[in-house]
Amino acid sequence: MRNRKCVFCNFVTNEKQIYCRHVVTEHNDQVPEDVEVPLEYAYSLMVNKPMGRLCTECHSNNVPFNTATLKYARFCSDKCKQKYVETVKGRMKDKYGKEHLLDDPEYQEKMINAHPNARDYVWDDTHTFRIIGTYEEDFMNKLKSLNWDPDDILAPSPHIIRYNWKDGSEHFYIPDFELPSIGLIVEIKQGNFNSSYMEHNREIEALKDAAARNLCQETNLHYIKILDKDYTEFMHDYVKSDTNRPE
Ligand SMILES: [Zn+2]
Ligand SMILES: [Zn+2]
Repeated sequence: MRNRKCVFCNFVTNEKQIYCRHVVTEHNDQVPEDVEVPLEYAYSLMVNKPMGRLCTECHSNNVPFNTATLKYARFCSDKCKQKYVETVKGRMKDKYGKEHLLDDPEYQEKMINAHPNARDYVWDDTHTFRIIGTYEEDFMNKLKSLNWDPDDILAPSPHIIRYNWKDGSEHFYIPDFELPSIGLIVEIKQGNFNSSYMEHNREIEALKDAAARNLCQETNLHYIKILDKDYTEFMHDYVKSDTNRPE
């Protein structure tokens, strides 16, 4: 972001994390008593707008403020999250054709949750996610440690990525997660050890990556592949960064 001066002193920074954390630590006494989330108050000062944002689906309820990304969530409830998921899924079916999708084993695997490693991740009393594998579980734990809002996590992403193998055959793939507030599609990967399998896999991965980049250009989303539970890039480029721009 551009340089902004603290409203209480001469401190200047062009990073929103630094700005907001400066306000809550150096000017704690300026935060009104009835404010529940001091960082949200600091953010409202920074962008010079009142606190609170409306859900992008129902346009009537307020959404939570994410203190890790310093960004508002998009949906107020699980119901509104599901509405968004259905909208995107409908769009994908219109685009690629339902029959095509249902024929694809990789698509089926994620949609019917029949995978042998599928498990329920219980977030809280009202949120349970169906995820596949321990690496995905680790990512959920990471989000939980950041106090992420469960209504701001889609597992899997409703977006579908189409790509073609070298033989011309058409394949579909569904990314593991989507985080709507930061517009991020997340694919969780485990490094491979079997080299001939890896060689074949690497080619396909490159095709998938290229297809994912195309989708992102069309939709204005971002895409990240998290390899072997290394969250450095995720934290640096998407959670703590100004990529998730202040409004
Ligand atoms: Zn200050
Ligand atoms: Zn809503």
